Amino acid sequence: LEEQLRKSDTLNVVGELAAGIAHEIRNPMTALKGFIQLLEGSIKDDYSLYFNVITSELNRIESIITEFLILARPQAIQYLKKDIGTIMKETIDLLNGQAILVNVQMELYLEQELPLIYCEPNQLKQVFINILKNAIEVMPKGGQIDVKIKRKDEKHLIVSIIDRGLGIPEDKIKRLGQPFYTTKERGTGLGLMVSYKIIEEHKGIVEVESEVGSGTAFHITLPINH
Ligand code: ADP
Ligand code: MG
Repeated sequence: LEEQLRKSDTLNVVGELAAGIAHEIRNPMTALKGFIQLLEGSIKDDYSLYFNVITSELNRIESIITEFLILARPQAIQYLKKDIGTIMKETIDLLNGQAILVNVQMELYLEQELPLIYCEPNQLKQVFINILKNAIEVMPKGGQIDVKIKRKDEKHLIVSIIDRGLGIPEDKIKRLGQPFYTTKERGTGLGLMVSYKIIEEHKGIVEVESEVGSGTAFHITLPINH
C-alpha cells in the first residue's frame, strides 16, 4: 500500500508540473495570437497565406494544450454515486449543436431501472464527449449515432456508442489511445488516450468493434462499485 501511495504521489507531482507548464505555454500563446492579428491588419494582402498557416498552427498548439490540461489538471476529483443516464443525456445535449450542423442525430436508449454507479461524473462526461465527438466527426454526411446503456451483469454496466462512419481498419484498432495517434489533418490524437486513462481509473474496460465502410462501436464496461 505504501508503495502504491508513493507512486500516486509521484504521478500527482508530474501532473501538477505538466499542468503548470501547459499554463505557462498558454499565456505567451495568447500574446502571440494577438500580435499576429495586429500584424495581419497592417501588412499587404500577399502574405495572407502565411498568416493563415501561422494562425492555424497556433490554434493547433492551443488545442493540444487544452486536451492535455484535461488530463493533467489537478482538479478536485470526487467520486460519487450517479445516474449514468443523466450524465449521458447532459453530454448529448452539449454536443447536439455540433451534431445538427452535419445532420447527425444522437439517439439514446436507456434500459429501465439502471443502478447508480460510483464514478467521477466530470471525468466520465469527458470520456463520452471525446468518443461522441469522434463519432460525429466520422459522419460528415450525417446519419444516426446510437448510444445504449444496459446492465451487463450483476456488477457491471455497458455503455455502447455506435456510429455509421468510415470504420477503422483492424490493424489500426490497437493504435487507438496511443498519445498523438491521429488520422485527422487537424487532430490531436489525445482524446482517446485521455478517455482510456479515465476508464482505467474507474476499473472499466473499452472494447472497439469496427468494420471499414460500415461503422464503429465503442463498448465501455464499468463496474457499478469499485
Ligand atoms: P483525434 O480525434 O484528435 O484524431 P482521438 O484520440 O480522439 O484523436 O482519436 C484518434 C484516432 O482514432 C482518430 O484520428 C481516428 O483515426 C480514430 N477514431 C477514433 N474514433 C473513431 C471512430 N468513431 N471512427 C473511426 N475512427 C475513429
Ligand atoms: Mg477526437
